[in-house]
Amino acid sequence: MRLLERLRENCGGLGERPAFCGGGEAMSWAVLGAKVRATAAMLARGRGPVVVYGHKEPWMPACFLACLLAGRPYLPADRSWPHERVRRAAELAGATLLLAVEPMELPGLETWDRGALEALPDPGTWCECMAGPAEIAYIIFTSGSTGVPKGVPISRGSLDHFLTWALSLPGIAACAGRGVLNQAGYAFDLSVADLYLAVMTGGTHTALTGEEQSDFSTMFARMWKSGAGLLVATPTFLRLCLTDASFCCGQMGTLGGVLSCGEVLRSRTAEKLFRRFPKLLLYNAYGPTEGTCAVSAARIHPEDCGSELPIGEMARCGADISIEIGGAPCPEGTVGEIVLRGAQLSPGYLNGIPGGFRDTLTGRAYGTGDLGIIRDGKLWYRGRMDEQIKYRGYLVEPGEIEAALETLSGIERAAVLPRLGRDGGVQGLVAFVESPQLPDWSGVKEELEQRLPPWMCPGQYAWVEHMPLTPNGKCDRNTLKEWVRDGKPG
Ligand code: AMP
Repeated sequence: MRLLERLRENCGGLGERPAFCGGGEAMSWAVLGAKVRATAAMLARGRGPVVVYGHKEPWMPACFLACLLAGRPYLPADRSWPHERVRRAAELAGATLLLAVEPMELPGLETWDRGALEALPDPGTWCECMAGPAEIAYIIFTSGSTGVPKGVPISRGSLDHFLTWALSLPGIAACAGRGVLNQAGYAFDLSVADLYLAVMTGGTHTALTGEEQSDFSTMFARMWKSGAGLLVATPTFLRLCLTDASFCCGQMGTLGGVLSCGEVLRSRTAEKLFRRFPKLLLYNAYGPTEGTCAVSAARIHPEDCGSELPIGEMARCGADISIEIGGAPCPEGTVGEIVLRGAQLSPGYLNGIPGGFRDTLTGRAYGTGDLGIIRDGKLWYRGRMDEQIKYRGYLVEPGEIEAALETLSGIERAAVLPRLGRDGGVQGLVAFVESPQLPDWSGVKEELEQRLPPWMCPGQYAWVEHMPLTPNGKCDRNTLKEWVRDGKPG
């Protein structure tokens, strides 16, 4: 694995420079090398997937890398998960061992706690990894719209393909080499990008803990101190950073690049980023966990702001993943499901559920459930298929209404959901609007009526100071669905 080769070189060459910082701890490359070698030697004595439990401490990525070196798949589990979720994920994955970086007990599973890991002796040499590219590198559990977590195994080959592609994006390697800032939890696949881009380029990886992310002064202090060149984050997190005036190049002169991924990046957010960081290298990356973190990215320039932003440039898609609309190479300008094929795809869910995976005459494909369109050589996002609504006979894309609302002054973010009747039919549209102050509803309605046809104008509005978020930092639509059904609390 190229990743392991780079790890070895960096641990040898970068010595006392910090490799991982997080949760108030730091681990140098030299110490990382010793810990990875020691843990891998222990892991190599057994077989089967390994649960790695904790939060943002440097021991977490050290354990991931040890699993990769030992050729055992790892399953990252965050301390924010309820115990039952950890247990169930471990069971579904058929895990045989638990590395408890933070205290955790899973009955029946061989467990090594942090003290035991610290005490393992460094063999001094790197063991030879025999695992091939088809073997599983990690298993990430996605929330799954049905509520049943789906285990997504990703092969070592797919991970290498993803990293090769991500490093081929102009400017990314140079930014990452100066240090990478992490927002996402390690159980969320966005972190695969920041963790391993740092390992590939020798940049220090600085992780922001959950607590730091809810306390701006600590978080910004950590960000400034990191001196990082690249920030990998969701648009929600970027918007949160932008609410603070100190998030600017004057305070954080080293920040040269932002890789935004996981959600729609609105023009307004990009525009604000360029105002704060005029020379910013900004990419809007797109991809599901099933396709290994990201499969496409579009470089966003200041002049692109003002209209919808693309999620990919067809000429810059990875060599090991192909993107089709509707499952077949099709002409530009057709809206359809974004379908992926190629070596960067997961072999399929652990639980055996087919989900979006299907075998076709031309090989295995994965239907993302996302709608997209290819226009001018670029890929554009058109919302989720499962959020499409049939209302008053019309096919309605909540994303289109949300985008229209978000262009109105003062509105930071909007989410539009259907109000369902007893028979499951759509009775109306409800818009949740996030803004610093209660909006002037009559003004909002008036402006929206000028932009959208009548059947797309929501009949009900609700103000939220902050959208409910999933642990991954995305808008939590399941909570919003409950609010539509039972009323918003408070
Ligand atoms: P996950 O598997 O949790 O990483 O979520 C993947 C989903 O996030 C995709 O299928 C999209 O619906 C959404 N997504 C990821 N990146 C973007 C993006 N740049 N713009 C819009 N939606 C995105």
